Amino acid sequence: MVSDKPKLHERMRRHRAGQLRTIALDVTPKCNMRCSHCYAETFRRAKPVSLESLLDALDEFHELGVFHYILQGGEPITAPGRLEAILRNCHAEETYINVVSNGWRMTRNRIQWLKALKVDKIAFSLDSGIEEEHDANRLPGSYRKVLEAIDNVLAEGLLASVSIVVTHESLYSAGFRLAYEFAVQRRIRLDVQIAEPVGKWDGMKEELITAADAAYIRKLRDASGHLPNGQVLINRDIFSGEKEHCPAGTEFMAVSGDGQFLPCNFLQYTLGTIGDRPIKAMRDDLLASPWFDGCHPSCLCGENEEFIDRYIVPFKKRAKPLSAYQVFELDSGKE
Ligand code: SF4
Ligand code: SF4
Repeated sequence: MVSDKPKLHERMRRHRAGQLRTIALDVTPKCNMRCSHCYAETFRRAKPVSLESLLDALDEFHELGVFHYILQGGEPITAPGRLEAILRNCHAEETYINVVSNGWRMTRNRIQWLKALKVDKIAFSLDSGIEEEHDANRLPGSYRKVLEAIDNVLAEGLLASVSIVVTHESLYSAGFRLAYEFAVQRRIRLDVQIAEPVGKWDGMKEELITAADAAYIRKLRDASGHLPNGQVLINRDIFSGEKEHCPAGTEFMAVSGDGQFLPCNFLQYTLGTIGDRPIKAMRDDLLASPWFDGCHPSCLCGENEEFIDRYIVPFKKRAKPLSAYQVFELDSGKE
């Protein structure tokens, strides 16, 4: 648990704005569900990257100062061997580890297994606080499984959270309101993930939030206060640090199930496959682009109109991931 990881606290203390800290890692492209809004659809049929390359990348990330992993998919627990190998090699004592799950197979035994492997938090995707709405997108019964799993995670003394995708419309729906009330009542974090024009919404702008919607989320965060562990109850990734900003490329990057190294799991522009070139060299190439300077105050992918019109809409229906080098005219810097 995070409170028992003094080396993690030391790494967090040493971190400075703009340094890489978080990696979203797709453990497997496999999933037992077929959600209508799945951004990971792009990688569903991809061949998983070799475990050897993945484990080498974990060492490179550690050397670069990474202390936070978001282990997702697909559904990470559909590949238990791979997940365990990652957990045993990600320097768990010095790392805050968050496993993201749809809850379907997250039994008490599996939670205990993850706890023994030093996982700190299990985050559950919730589409709506209304049972029928959540289940309509997923598998019948999955809403109840999520609730049961959250109770079990809390009973095991781990952190739990719910992650909800919001569109311009759903942000004001009863489904969102009830999911929010559920988080308040359980005293767990609600991660608000705005709709992104990727995956099944590739190039579509209709669902995206507006500036007024972003202000509404901010207001809700300010009104919701903090959890017993000091974290804010409502979170978006742009809220970290002193000023709101998109952390893609600077503080946050992603690895897809087939090993593509990306600025963010939603920004499906590849810098190459891990294992082919050093992680640091690929990230340095990306940071030459002014889009990835950590200074953009909103989500590049889901809110920044200029970015969306230049780099997402024109590539609608094109096979993803695209080459980050071509799209952003980066110098390959290849030795
Ligand atoms: S559970 Fe998650 S990864 Fe699986 S299909 Fe749904 S959104 Fe995609
Ligand atoms: S593009 Fe959006 S989702 Fe990706 S890191 Fe930036 S703020 Fe987060």
